Amino acid sequence: MRRNNKNLRVLLNILILCGIVFGGVACTGTDVLAVRVKSEAYAPMKAVGKLAAVEARNLLRAEFRKVVNRNDVIVLSNAGYAEIGGKGTMGALDGLSEMLRVSRGANTLVEVHSIPEAPLWFAVFDSRSGWCAYLQVKSSAVGGVLKASDLFEKRTVAKIDPATLYASDNIPFDFGGNEFRIVTIANGVAFGVPAYVTRSFEFHDHYCPGVTSGILIANYVKEYFADKGVTPKGYFVHGLNPWCKEDALMVMLNATPGKSGYTVTYSTTEDRAEWGDYSSAVNIVYGQLPDGSWEGLILNVTLAPSTETGCNYTNGTISRLCADLWYLDKLDDPGRFVEELKSFTLPATDHPKNYARPGIDIMAMENPPWEDD
Ligand SMILES: [Zn+2]
Repeated sequence: MRRNNKNLRVLLNILILCGIVFGGVACTGTDVLAVRVKSEAYAPMKAVGKLAAVEARNLLRAEFRKVVNRNDVIVLSNAGYAEIGGKGTMGALDGLSEMLRVSRGANTLVEVHSIPEAPLWFAVFDSRSGWCAYLQVKSSAVGGVLKASDLFEKRTVAKIDPATLYASDNIPFDFGGNEFRIVTIANGVAFGVPAYVTRSFEFHDHYCPGVTSGILIANYVKEYFADKGVTPKGYFVHGLNPWCKEDALMVMLNATPGKSGYTVTYSTTEDRAEWGDYSSAVNIVYGQLPDGSWEGLILNVTLAPSTETGCNYTNGTISRLCADLWYLDKLDDPGRFVEELKSFTLPATDHPKNYARPGIDIMAMENPPWEDD
């Protein structure tokens, strides 16, 4: 207890030294000068991350009545995406990882996408006890000197492990509107999701069965080409009926519109009804073969009903968490959920983007680039 109070005092001194001035006043303390990074936002934000770590540890200890073991800690934050007074917040990640020993490589430091205007937040999850501390930085920290005690506008601690949530079927705590993303991501990481799942839900900003359907499609396509003994040079994804899955496909297949790797058609139910045998198609995924030609797979994905997953909670967040965890040991069996409606080839002289031009609906073309059986 005494040691932690001392740590907190040291941090308070650093913060006062730095003045938590986001307007650009440099820190003058020797502690902070040891940081050899030239961004003026780095040192104050690193100090914010350290303070968040100490605050979170104290909140967790108050509930769990034990000092949290570093090996059990998972940290989530939108640091690096959120901005305060137009300044970057990424330095906070180093403060957190230094204090709590979380890291990218160990999959214990999760960087969650947000808009720059979103409040900066931290969630520190003790995966052993199930308690999670949530800290949200006041946006009024902009431009003025702030006392450390005023730094956080929300300091919440709640038990968020699946067993607790399933028993209550309720989310009674306030994590600043980030409840869904924190509950699903923190538990997913605690249950050992692979790196590609972390990358996908970080970009998507929450972990839902929708993003899982994209992960299943990407795994299906990887398996398809691996089974053929072909190493694709790259992928092109055509979303025909887009939902959360698109974000996983972009991340896992590095298929982005900026690199001519992704396109989407926002089809309606009426449009899809016109697609005949392919009305259930949700994506075409092309792999570019070593000779430059493109092999396209017209795919459908069907998620398991709640009668199969057993995820029948009244609370939508809890139902989705349950489904996320149900799929974890099935991600390497994508053929169970993904249906291949058709495969076809475009010659190297052609490109999938030629079927994504304004006014063209590849699924409704009179002469599509495939032959129907
Ligand atoms: Zn989603």
